[in-house]
Amino acid sequence: MSWKGGVFRQKKITPLVGDQVEFEYQDIKEGYIISVDERDNQLTRPPIANVDQAIIVTSVKEPNLSVNLLDKFLVLVESKAIQPLLFFTKMDLLTEVEAKSVKEKLTYYQQIGYSIEFLSTKDNEMIAQLSIHLNDKVSVFAGQSGVGKTSILNQIVPGLNLETDDISASLGRGKHTTRHVELIPFESGLVADTPGFSSLDFKEIQLENLPQYYPEFAVLQNDCKFRGCMHIQEPKCAVKQALVNGEILKERYDNYVQFAEEIKNRKPRY
Ligand code: GDP
Ligand code: ZN
Repeated sequence: MSWKGGVFRQKKITPLVGDQVEFEYQDIKEGYIISVDERDNQLTRPPIANVDQAIIVTSVKEPNLSVNLLDKFLVLVESKAIQPLLFFTKMDLLTEVEAKSVKEKLTYYQQIGYSIEFLSTKDNEMIAQLSIHLNDKVSVFAGQSGVGKTSILNQIVPGLNLETDDISASLGRGKHTTRHVELIPFESGLVADTPGFSSLDFKEIQLENLPQYYPEFAVLQNDCKFRGCMHIQEPKCAVKQALVNGEILKERYDNYVQFAEEIKNRKPRY
């Protein structure tokens, strides 16, 4: 496949995995991309276009539950206008009491509008049920290393056999090093075979946009006294009031303030 000079009049665009293109066949095997349709969104690491859904995977143990990282991934996904879906893995490693308290805390994310699933990749039946989330969508997995992304992919996509941490560790090499990204057809959807997003993408987040990536803040912002309220130092702030009333998860608000600081202290890029 190649570009047809002259016919391709768009600005120089490198086609990405996930692009919808107009394609002209020259013969049965060869052809040209004539144009690339406008993208709904675009990820840089890995390079994929037109993603519908990002499945943010967070383990409740090994590595320990990090609401901070979860919130960071949520901000990244929201900033790209991609629908997030939250999977909490390794539930089998918790006692009943621990599982109950973790669920109570994380149900907050459901209350603010996200779909969540608690699971263990050891439970085949549970895994089989996850596939309903992938129908008719282009999905990409996101999350810290070791949380179980590869294990889920391997179990829901028959015959995939990606290397999990176990295998790559025993072979003495990291996974996902030289592989390129592919979208794998799965039931009626497509799923990326490599995790999307990295914390590096956080560098692209603008401070003034940060509050709008928090759905529970966004619904309150008209009740704040000041337009463009950052919900940090401003008086008569509806978000801070909701926090005092216990309607906003304190840990998540604290993460928000930390992210805002991180962005503020970021050195400008030249
Ligand atoms: P990734 O880096 O996010 O792709 O994580 P992997 O799928 O490679 O999993 C990392 C390690 O966690 C592997 O040893 C998996 O067998 C293990 N693991 C993944 N999911 C679960 C789970 O739900 N329960 C338990 N006990 N271990 C899991
Ligand atoms: Zn406010």
